[in-house]
Amino acid sequence: MAGFRVFRGRGERRRDGIHHAGVYIFRMNTNLPELTLKYGRDDSVLRHHPWIFSGAVHRLEGDVPPGGTVRVRNAQGRPLGMAAWSPASQIRARMWSFDPDAVIDADFFRQRIASAAALRAPLFDPARTDAYRLVASEADLLPGLIVDRYADVLVCQFLSAGAEHWRETILEVLGEHFPSHRLFERSDGEAREKEGLPVRVGPIGSGEADVRCTVREHSLSFVVDPATGHKTGFYLDQRDNRVLLGRYARDAEVLNCFSYTGGFAVHALAGGAARVVDVDVSGDALAIARMNVEKNGLDAGRYEQEEADVFHFLRRCRDEGRQFDAIVLDPPKFAASKSQIDRAARGYKDINLLAMKLLRPGGLLFTFSCSGHMVLPLFQKIVADAALDANRHARVVHLMTQSGDHPIALPIPESWYLKGLVCRVD
Ligand code: SAH
Repeated sequence: MAGFRVFRGRGERRRDGIHHAGVYIFRMNTNLPELTLKYGRDDSVLRHHPWIFSGAVHRLEGDVPPGGTVRVRNAQGRPLGMAAWSPASQIRARMWSFDPDAVIDADFFRQRIASAAALRAPLFDPARTDAYRLVASEADLLPGLIVDRYADVLVCQFLSAGAEHWRETILEVLGEHFPSHRLFERSDGEAREKEGLPVRVGPIGSGEADVRCTVREHSLSFVVDPATGHKTGFYLDQRDNRVLLGRYARDAEVLNCFSYTGGFAVHALAGGAARVVDVDVSGDALAIARMNVEKNGLDAGRYEQEEADVFHFLRRCRDEGRQFDAIVLDPPKFAASKSQIDRAARGYKDINLLAMKLLRPGGLLFTFSCSGHMVLPLFQKIVADAALDANRHARVVHLMTQSGDHPIALPIPESWYLKGLVCRVD
């Protein structure tokens, strides 16, 4: 049953409010399940961090299905907002809204998705770039929902019980916004497992199973396979950093380590590189990389591939005395949690040290970490130590991060996950 609550002196009008004699009366759903936090465990929610861990939960009152909406209160009874209940996960609830009067319904998702789309609209000229992250989970205040746009394909990931609960509604809203787009689901990966949700991969509705498509990124073309590719098919977050490499590539001999489907390689070749070598352990990724070189009409004679472990390949280059003018190091996440930072640091140090040794004087190192727990000052120190040990003088000429369609949620420091340095190595 809906109840009524009276608030005096609030200046704003809500769509569910009634204005009567200077008093706003809000209709509130008083029988929503209530999640009460333990005493002193409300600070992260008050700081607008959306995750509530199981250890912070005092009690849940009312019946709520997995992913259903609960009103969150602190121990003193103060309402803090609305969240999705995730009974199987250590992250027991994720905040949809920090407004205690928010109504989580189709309109809520309509507004959040419209606002996510509005943020991206000025970032891209559709004639040059038609692939971008449309919804970036927590950073778009939609925890657990990722939507990537690849030309006319929208690839959706429902990675939390809350996102799963609202799946049909979200798909309807996406259909309203992008009526001519095909929808494909890529709900897999570790996050989904932790939520106790089964893997679901395939076309949504009556779509075709094969959604391999060609996208444009800064006017270059790339083949993306949303069904089998990493993440949803492409590393969209590196878009602007690939352009930067292209600017430095003229006549350079470039080694692109952890190349995946050759994003950096294509930009380097288009920028006039003399030679580009892609290295990756994945033969499938390299096969697409070769297609990408051809698709852009680039000279395949200037392009080489090595299906190899980068740690071994760099050592082999060192032993053979090979030299390069620019090296890209874009490894996978070495630290999945804080406890893995030390081990990750050793991995980053190793490849950066080897790469520095392979650079000609004045060469450029494009080095990245996509581990959310590896903060920039620590990464800088690792690269500095690598330069010292390689006996090279290195200066940072650019700081890099994830593209603007992957915003950083300020209350979640680890959402600034991609850090990169361009170092000139003398
Ligand atoms: N730079 C790429 C993205 C890199 S993702 C782009 O712009 O698209 C990381 C890549 O590293 C994946 O393709 C994965 O197959 C590869 N990889 C992981 N471990 C590796 C290793 N030890 N040696 C070589 N490649 C590795």
